[in-house]
Amino acid sequence: MPIRLLSPEVASQIAAGEVIERPASVVKELVENALDAGARTVTLKIAEAGRTLIEVADDGSGIPQAELPLAVSRHATSKLSTAKDLFQIKTLGFRGEALASIGSVSQMTITSRTTDQPAGARLRLEGGLEAEVEAVGTPIGTVVRVENLFYNVPARLKFLKTDTTERRAIDALVTRYALAYHQVRFKLTEGQNVTLQTTGDGDRRAILASLYGVEVAKQMLEVLAEDEGMRMTGFISPTALTRSNRREITFFINGRWVHDVALTTALTQAYHTLLMVGRYPMATLFLEMDPESVDVNVHPAKAEVRFREQERVFSFVQRAVRRAILAYTPVPSVPSGTLWGSETTSRQAGLDWNIAHDELLKIGAQPSKNLSSAPPVQGKLKNIPLLRLIGQIGATYLVAEGPDGLYLIDQHAAHERVLFEKLMAQHEIKNIPAQALLTPATVTLPPAQANLLSGQIETLVHLGFQVDPFGPNTFQIRALPAIFSGSDPAAALRVLVEDFEEDETPLQNELEARIAGRVCKRLAVKAGQTLSPDEQHALVTDLENCDSPRTCPHGRPTMIHLSVDMLERQFGRKGAR
Ligand code: ADP
Ligand code: MG
Repeated sequence: MPIRLLSPEVASQIAAGEVIERPASVVKELVENALDAGARTVTLKIAEAGRTLIEVADDGSGIPQAELPLAVSRHATSKLSTAKDLFQIKTLGFRGEALASIGSVSQMTITSRTTDQPAGARLRLEGGLEAEVEAVGTPIGTVVRVENLFYNVPARLKFLKTDTTERRAIDALVTRYALAYHQVRFKLTEGQNVTLQTTGDGDRRAILASLYGVEVAKQMLEVLAEDEGMRMTGFISPTALTRSNRREITFFINGRWVHDVALTTALTQAYHTLLMVGRYPMATLFLEMDPESVDVNVHPAKAEVRFREQERVFSFVQRAVRRAILAYTPVPSVPSGTLWGSETTSRQAGLDWNIAHDELLKIGAQPSKNLSSAPPVQGKLKNIPLLRLIGQIGATYLVAEGPDGLYLIDQHAAHERVLFEKLMAQHEIKNIPAQALLTPATVTLPPAQANLLSGQIETLVHLGFQVDPFGPNTFQIRALPAIFSGSDPAAALRVLVEDFEEDETPLQNELEARIAGRVCKRLAVKAGQTLSPDEQHALVTDLENCDSPRTCPHGRPTMIHLSVDMLERQFGRKGAR
């Protein structure tokens, strides 16, 4: 083929591919435009996960009638005029591409009116081709209506994920912008459901609740830090609240949601040694800095930035987060001169799970000089010796004697392991005895989670749960696996949804095992719960019968072993001490 110039339609579709990837990208661009226009209220309507309709209405400055055709032209913007301006951008938009891009891959209608116009105007675009501008009556502000996204690029449609996933991306986006712009009123309606509504009164924690649910929102720690020319506000999770991926980590820089690996690393490093391996914090953090110190023009969808002084920003975030965690989380310390001697006093007892105990035990190695780990494994790797129960201490640990010393068993971790193996064994033979609830429990979830759950009811059936939709965002639990009888079904359901967060569906079996692990953790006896002697016995016997009795399903040890040999050394009966 000879070289030819592409037709404007093809050229703009190619360009649109960079900016508009999915319905959530349209939502992002339109919300950013509304915010740039100084909106106090942003109202969004979505139908069919944004495939058939995305409408964003604002009460901002509006677009003058004469400028409507320009607004939808490529490289037309009111936010920038010289190249120098690029380095002091204070608006979210500046590329002058969004409306043109959206217009070229959808049927788009813009209706707008400025304060000094008596009436408004409307412009309709179909696949990038403009119709005449017509005068219409409309309130001050702008309404952009995008119908049938990608109707003229069917290949794009094939790349969209399930409605649930696309809807979730939109929910996540709008909720985060609502958090960042807490002085602006947001309302998001999807079909008949209002999925988000904020008051614009600046109460961030209330918005956080619609993102994570009330319980989690209550626990999130508030961060406020300042350093020369930089300021950070927002929320981070306490060490007890973690996720299996980094997806709940959000950073805004100067009001712009960005994905930045370095910032995410700074955050996770601040939690170093405080979280288990493979667990990540949740965070929504807002950084403000001089626009000149950050280059926002490095990514077509403006999702990445470059810092002039990356190191300084990195260490600011890391130190601020670390300080906040430590301020809220008392670090238990082992007083010197205790049984443990000097070898362990420098460790933060009970918090340092960064050694993958499980792995070490599997290969039969002994964690170096680490007294609080299990003993060297002899003979058959898996099992623990028969134990003689002595009793419970602190309503948290069981004390038992084995042939080679004393065992301290963490009742919660042990029970978690026992429940998990029982459930998985029943699951394997596809026979999980269910226990019907006399009074079915009803649970109302935040819309995003409710959405996820609806898509996974089948998985729950496999795990012995019987859950039915019961009105908007509400579910009814009618039966539980029998091994959980007596525990709180609503609590179980809430943990279940946490695990449906992945975009890509993992293998069904893997998913089920993960969910099982999560439920067992939630429903296992807690520390602080007094157990009857019978319950204590049953737990120790059940643990002895487990395949992997030494760790809970999440890799924490279920027991600490104090060998006779070690006790003798500690009491000075043996060796020099
Ligand atoms: P950019 O935001 O990068 O300038 P867009 O294509 O998103 O590019 O928008 C083009 C122009 O249209 C903007 O510069 C702005 O002047 C105008 N505009 C778009 N949306 C709105 C809105 N909701 N309210 C007022 N003006 C708008
Ligand atoms: Mg824009």
